[in-house]
Amino acid sequence: MNLSPITRNNLHASGGAAFVRANDELRSALAPHRAAGRTIGLVPTMGYLHEGHLSLLRAAREQCDVVVMSLFVNPTQFGEGEDLDRYPRDEERDARLAAEAGVDYVYAPPVEEVYPEGFGTAVEVTGELTEVLDGDPARRGPGHFRGVTTVVAKLFNTVQPEVAYFGQKDAQQLAVIRRMVRDLDLPVRVEGLPTVREYDGLAMSSRNAYLDSGERVRAAALSRALRTADARAREESLPAAIAAARAELEAEGIEPEYLEARDPDALTPVAELNGRPVLLAVAARVGGARLIDNVLIQPTTTET
Ligand code: AMP
Repeated sequence: MNLSPITRNNLHASGGAAFVRANDELRSALAPHRAAGRTIGLVPTMGYLHEGHLSLLRAAREQCDVVVMSLFVNPTQFGEGEDLDRYPRDEERDARLAAEAGVDYVYAPPVEEVYPEGFGTAVEVTGELTEVLDGDPARRGPGHFRGVTTVVAKLFNTVQPEVAYFGQKDAQQLAVIRRMVRDLDLPVRVEGLPTVREYDGLAMSSRNAYLDSGERVRAAALSRALRTADARAREESLPAAIAAARAELEAEGIEPEYLEARDPDALTPVAELNGRPVLLAVAARVGGARLIDNVLIQPTTTET
């Protein structure tokens, strides 16, 4: 691991990550790094860290001089009746894991710091990218991504990172953030990293903590269904692949909220393999948890 002598030794002789609550405090802490030409990497999280988060932090540690992890359960991206109040939190453990992963600054602001009295601005990516899948009013609601892009835009402004790291696990979120960065000419490189999984394929998620032991076993059907679909798409056809995935879910009594094939960048529907990667995305409720997962089906290479 690349432990930059500047960030590791000079700043935090204690070896821990500095905990910062206030926006201006973080700006002041980062200013000398920026002035010295050090690269700053940002990993936005809602905490309750798992190996998926840690993979992003490690990539940031390897590629950047200064690593900032934000830790903020963003209320504006939760829908009415969603799990904001019971979202799992453990700041002490997160601080320890972040320090072990070589994070220099943990930015953990209170809600009032991010959304002060009278806050009235939003950053919104419109169109198909946010209207489909999670944006459907019958599903999670259109406000979800407005909440995400608003808070991420604020984080980009405060931290001004060269690179920001996101997981492919939240494929639609990644596509939406890439679009926001492109549309607003934000000077940040967005890195999307592969989904980290449990031994049985279940995509790691803070929300997996909601699953009891029986639900935990059933939840593995999501990734199994996607793996089956990935193979069947290439052997047969995309509709056959989706049908096979649906059957795999049904066998575990799981009714997907959506199970759809889409272009990974534009999120337009895809009916057949078309020589480009195809995103197959699923969301489903298993017990008390709403889980998402996806696979990128790569084009077949049989044509010459
Ligand atoms: P969250 O704390 O759930 O908002 O996630 C913070 C970041 O970690 C997002 O960019 C997620 O896409 C990413 N992430 C969450 N779960 C995983 C996973 N299993 N593998 C890789 N990245 C993940």
